[in-house]
Amino acid sequence: TAPASLAGIRAANLQKTLTTTPKPLLPKEELVFGHSFSDHMLTVNWTASAGWGKPEIKPYGPLSLDPSCSVFHYAFECFEGLKAYRDQSGNIRLFRPDKNMERMNQSAARLYLPQFDGKEVIECIKELLRTDARWVPEGKGYSLYLRPTLISTENTLGVHRANKAMLYVITSPCGPYFKTGFKAIGLYCDESNVRAWPGGVGNRKLGANYAPSVGPQVAAEKKGYQQVLWTIGEDHELMEVGTMNMFVYWRNELGELELITPPLDDGTILPGVTRDSILELTRAWGEFKVTEGKVNMKQIVKASNEGRLLEVFGAGTACVVTPVKRIHFKGSDYNIPLDPANPESQAGPITDRIYKTLFGIQYGKVPSKWSVVV
Ligand code: PMP
Repeated sequence: TAPASLAGIRAANLQKTLTTTPKPLLPKEELVFGHSFSDHMLTVNWTASAGWGKPEIKPYGPLSLDPSCSVFHYAFECFEGLKAYRDQSGNIRLFRPDKNMERMNQSAARLYLPQFDGKEVIECIKELLRTDARWVPEGKGYSLYLRPTLISTENTLGVHRANKAMLYVITSPCGPYFKTGFKAIGLYCDESNVRAWPGGVGNRKLGANYAPSVGPQVAAEKKGYQQVLWTIGEDHELMEVGTMNMFVYWRNELGELELITPPLDDGTILPGVTRDSILELTRAWGEFKVTEGKVNMKQIVKASNEGRLLEVFGAGTACVVTPVKRIHFKGSDYNIPLDPANPESQAGPITDRIYKTLFGIQYGKVPSKWSVVV
């Protein structure tokens, strides 16, 4: 467990310095994910001796850090990703931010970095959003992406616990993931690289999990597939799709309609907020079996050959869901029918319905306790 901090983060102590040089907003069509940033950021410093300092909202800008800081050497870093959405009445909304704070605290604990009260940080984030409200774009699929980040600012080279750390939040306006409707993707099942393993840190959102995934991703793209299908073990048990959780909708070997996603119990799967939401939503529908369970490539191949593989999709904050149209495994492509009733369609009916429901909640059109008005 991580060190108990002395002073906690308190939103009531928030200090604010506004920029004197607000930036012009980019035209919406020019937004590229993660390329431009709003006017302000939130920062909070921590020391082992005093705990958390006062949260500050200040102009977005470079951090000045000693090159010896252990974030640069030993990957003392974890992060989160969530979005702020503008609803039809002009309100700004967050989607289940408490889940992101919970996951960030779990990530921090794994790095022995300080934890914090998620409720207080959400209050600080809300104030950041009110400060940068003009940066939350209007329109279907538009949002302001939030990147909470926690780093060690310990400026010594030993591999040991950090005595200094910084939490910060930056925000970046982004456009719709699917500009012209769904676009189903192809997956390349990578047989040589493993993203995470039991006892590892795949279930934590550590920067260290992401840099090593870029080489395999480039290799998959070169072969003509959009994302890596991560698997593990001799059976090629399914894990994740790129940086998304994976869902399979099929008729299982017992003949039941089932939505299945890999379980969280062995620590190899990131506990996605979208994943959790899809499980709760589809369980409430009660129309088919919903399972957190292991699935391997042999079962996928068999289901595909027997016409039982109905829909496959990735799930995450960036896209909500991304339909998968084929999977490459050991020299063969296995095609997924998407929607047999509509050959032009880029998503199966379950994928599409999940997307519409979650999208509706995020933009405040479908009432839900998950949507938090700022
Ligand atoms: N898996 C990985 C490896 C991820 O990076 C993400 C994105 N955070 C997800 C799954 C999806 O998680 P979420 O639904 O919380 O965005």
